[in-house]
Amino acid sequence: MSRCPTRIALERYAAALIEDDETRAIAAHIEACAACARAVAALPASVALVGELQQLERSRAVSAGVVDALRTATAASTTGFLRGASGSRGDTEARSLD
Ligand SMILES: [Zn+2]
Repeated sequence: MSRCPTRIALERYAAALIEDDETRAIAAHIEACAACARAVAALPASVALVGELQQLERSRAVSAGVVDALRTATAASTTGFLRGASGSRGDTEARSLD
C-alpha cells in the first residue's frame, strides 16, 4: 500500500471492522507512515472500544458475561491507574471491605 488509507479506512481499522488482510495492510502502512499513525492515535478511544465490543457480540460463542467482565476489568484497571495504587494495595482494600 503506497497511498495513505482514507480516514474511514483508518477508523474501520481502529474499530476492527475489516478483514484481516486489509487490517494487516493498514497496520504495515501505519508502521511506515507517521501521518497515519498520528491519525489513528487521534481517533477517539470510543472507536476502538466499540469495535472490540462489536467483535465480541459478533462471536456467538462469547456470552454477555464475558463482555461484562471485560467492562469491569477495564473499569478496574482504569481506577487503579487513576489511584496510582499497586495491585497488592487494591487487594488489601478489597479484603477489608469483605
Ligand atoms: Zn499514511
